[in-house]
Amino acid sequence: MNSGDGVDPAPRVHASAAPASPETAARSKPNLLDLSFHQLEDLMVKLGEPAFRARQAWQWLWQKAAASPLEMTNISKELRARLDQATAIRWPVVSRRLESSDGTVKFLLELDGGAEIETVLIPEKDRYTQCLSSQAGCAMACTFCRTGQMGLTRNLTHGEILGQILVARHYLASIGAALKLRNLVFMGMGEPLLNYDNLLSALESLHHPQGLDFSSRRVTVSTVGIVPGILEFGRAGLGSLAVSLHAPDQELREKIMPKAAKALPLPRLMEVLKQFPLKVRENITFEYVLLGGVNDSPEQARDLVRLLSHVKGKVNLIAFNESPGLPYQAPSPERVEIFQKILWDKGLTVTLRKSKGRDIFAACGQLLAAHECGEEQ
Ligand code: SAH
Repeated sequence: MNSGDGVDPAPRVHASAAPASPETAARSKPNLLDLSFHQLEDLMVKLGEPAFRARQAWQWLWQKAAASPLEMTNISKELRARLDQATAIRWPVVSRRLESSDGTVKFLLELDGGAEIETVLIPEKDRYTQCLSSQAGCAMACTFCRTGQMGLTRNLTHGEILGQILVARHYLASIGAALKLRNLVFMGMGEPLLNYDNLLSALESLHHPQGLDFSSRRVTVSTVGIVPGILEFGRAGLGSLAVSLHAPDQELREKIMPKAAKALPLPRLMEVLKQFPLKVRENITFEYVLLGGVNDSPEQARDLVRLLSHVKGKVNLIAFNESPGLPYQAPSPERVEIFQKILWDKGLTVTLRKSKGRDIFAACGQLLAAHECGEEQ
């Protein structure tokens, strides 16, 4: 997979190993990154150690980027050896890295078993935001989304979800980046609420002060709207909610995102969202991809205002990112402006998501699709 075009493999890259090599043996061992903090405590106890050893190991995994248990120098040599015998530390392997002229960086990552995912680092004024994948592929088949066209390969594990952050941090350290990675959005491949258990344990781990230590205010989970996951996620209070709406009525939503819209019809979705527990000053973000001539008319903007009149929400408009094989066109800048103004004039908070990393196919699923189709430069 290494194409030699600026690939920066993390230190634990596994080249395709011959059978029975130590690499292969390591691959069959459980990955320490897949354990929650409590599971790591249980493992320590099972190994005859006090539970508090987990704190030290956790720090090595998530803050000190250890590539092997043998690197955990503040725990005894004997325990290190036993951990190494029973477990391994495997990061997702960077198979390609693409850097956009606007600073956006996209990683194509290979997971155990060969599944591939993407993650994108987006520079902003005072920080980086990382767009994370929750599944390899996606079962939702939304008609405007490249990932949707691929179908679902599998759910990501706890370690694979969070491993994307380790890869990004390693890269940022390697280039001496001045900005920190502060914000996380689950807007990469997959439907996070259809990988609910792993998502939740990953979110819990994210906030661990001895680990990655992200504030829940800086984590956003984007969903097409899945019950009961959406309310369970709200009650857990581990991040903000973004809902991919894309249409102001059920009929059109069914055309744009058939599976999701049929599974949870729009009126019911809005009812569920009214029950979503929000903190003070917190909003639900509604994502709306503007598809030229499909959902971008002034009338549809007014319908959207009506639909959102009873929820505490803000709108994130996104101009459709054109991609070969997708049956839509980008909206004209004039239509975008008019659409946005109608929402504004009715008092809604609206942001227009800037399209970043166009030259590296940074929209959801696009790098992988381009890679598979041989379109990439
Ligand atoms: N399944 C979740 C998470 C995936 S993120 C969800 O649907 O919310 C999905 C987001 O990716 C969409 O809301 C949209 O903002 C973006 N997206 C996907 N394909 C796109 C495209 N071709 N152009 C612009 N945005 C796209």
